[in-house]
Amino acid sequence: MSGRLETTVTEICEANGRDRTRLLSIAKRVQEKFGCVSEEAIDAIADELGIPRVEIDALVSFYAFLSKEPLGKVVIRLSDDAVDRMHGYDEVREAFEEALGIGLGETTPDGKFTLERTACIGLSDQAPAALIGDVPVTHLDPDRAREIVAELSTHLDPTQLVRETGGGRNAHPLVWSMVANNLREEGEVLFSPNRPGEAIRKALAITPQEVIRAVKAARLRGRGGAGFPTGMKWEFTRAAPGDEKYLICNADEGEPGTFKDRVLLTEKPDRVFAGMTIGGYAIGASRGILYLRAEYKYLRRYLEYTLEDRRRRKLLGEDILHSGFDFDIEIRMGAGAYVCGEETALISSLEGSRGDPKTRPPFPAQKGYLGGPTSVNNVETLACVAKIIHQGAATFCQFGSEHSTGTKLLSVSGDCGMPGVYEVEFGITLREFLVKCGGGDAIAVQVGGPSGKMVGPSEYDRIICYEDLSTGGSMMVFGPERNVLEVARDFMEFFADESCGTCVPCRVGNVLLKEGLERILAGRGEPADLDHFAAIGTTMKQTSRCGLGQTSANPVLSTMEHFPEAYEALVAADPDGYRRSFDLDAELSQARAVRKGGNGHE
Ligand code: SF4
Repeated sequence: MSGRLETTVTEICEANGRDRTRLLSIAKRVQEKFGCVSEEAIDAIADELGIPRVEIDALVSFYAFLSKEPLGKVVIRLSDDAVDRMHGYDEVREAFEEALGIGLGETTPDGKFTLERTACIGLSDQAPAALIGDVPVTHLDPDRAREIVAELSTHLDPTQLVRETGGGRNAHPLVWSMVANNLREEGEVLFSPNRPGEAIRKALAITPQEVIRAVKAARLRGRGGAGFPTGMKWEFTRAAPGDEKYLICNADEGEPGTFKDRVLLTEKPDRVFAGMTIGGYAIGASRGILYLRAEYKYLRRYLEYTLEDRRRRKLLGEDILHSGFDFDIEIRMGAGAYVCGEETALISSLEGSRGDPKTRPPFPAQKGYLGGPTSVNNVETLACVAKIIHQGAATFCQFGSEHSTGTKLLSVSGDCGMPGVYEVEFGITLREFLVKCGGGDAIAVQVGGPSGKMVGPSEYDRIICYEDLSTGGSMMVFGPERNVLEVARDFMEFFADESCGTCVPCRVGNVLLKEGLERILAGRGEPADLDHFAAIGTTMKQTSRCGLGQTSANPVLSTMEHFPEAYEALVAADPDGYRRSFDLDAELSQARAVRKGGNGHE
């Protein structure tokens, strides 16, 4: 084992307090230093932490942004989701492949570049996009791809690609990013003006129980998608026995088409941190953690700076505003795993393990991070809290509808004239919203991302709210030239990739549905397929352990429900009674290859 590697691993482990629960941070740092977490590095970490190497091996193989094989000095990760594909992903990929002389998943022989595909990186409104190193690069086309390769070949420094910033605080020197906010509509809750400290001062003037009562009176529900009442979650966490409690902000928005939290963290980080601090006060926590998705690493320095500024103002740290209340916030990074958006998987990740969802009960409010009662809240939810405490529950309830109070951030992408982020009041119809974003001729809208539902024009008068058309924020618009079955197939490919594989219905079901859709699109579908899809989908919903498997059949089930004609056009019984799904040539291909000595020729 090389001395330098050993020494560096020792330093990294020491910097992380030799803490087993910081294994993900340690592995990420090793990857940054050496371009991979090699077998040797795994041995060194195992020795330093005194843990079995298999635990480190399992962690490294789980996260998309970690690798045991050496990666190039510059890693280009092309965002590959349905919207990227609609806007030219394939052409951009081909241009990169041609310019680099490698395919996806490969590294150039000189070790300069690695080219990879990755799931949605939170830039669907400026697709096709890529992460080059940690630098988000937007609005790609084949010419730009070739220029980028030519330029990077001379200096290998992705930060030099940023010549113009995307405006707003993307122009802050600590962000300095070409990402645009595309903030199309600012409402009176989340993007209204605020001053640091105003909400916390009010919170600390009342008891934690009164804070919880105010949040309950505002009827605030979680904005990440599940819609659980926030006040109730805090009440449970506060009441749960445990010396150490935790408030975690889930900034791992990985649902394709969702990028609202990115804009909120860019423009209103103070409001989010205020919400975390108030939440900590309410549940009796002194530690908060912002779990930031790896794709948003470019925001980290700026967010750290904001935290430091809040400490200087006595809004964070010990004895906040001389109240005797101690609370501090730490930022921890993800490493590329969609399933970590699920709260128990996120907690596993923070504990230094694979992002495997945990069996519930116990719920995090009873036994969460490091076994302590934990409240996991969405970025947008926490920003709402700051507003509620500052201006009162009654003011908050003036917005929205009876059961869906306040406003909702929607991130819109796809076939619409004005993609971006909108803060709208709950109660708006989908039709009204489509007019706003320039998607009036949509033939379909995916509401709530791939795990949500796809609806057609007959449902455009439905209302965006918890009781009707619920969404965590993602709205993907599809115009007349799109094939909804191809979109559903892309979504199923995503879920097949992202399933953590622990339970069979999810691990196998996603693949079966993807392959079934591919067969139908290839003209080999038969009526029995639809019954089979329904049965698989029901099994997945009922028997999968976590939200991913419980919802990942939705692209198929909702297109079957709302777009039956798309299936009917392609699915038919064979007039001669043969199984159309049976492909004789494909089935015989292996046998033919073996019979002819492996060359495949007759
Ligand atoms: Fe993993 Fe899927 Fe099971 Fe969730 S449902 S635990 S993602 S295999």
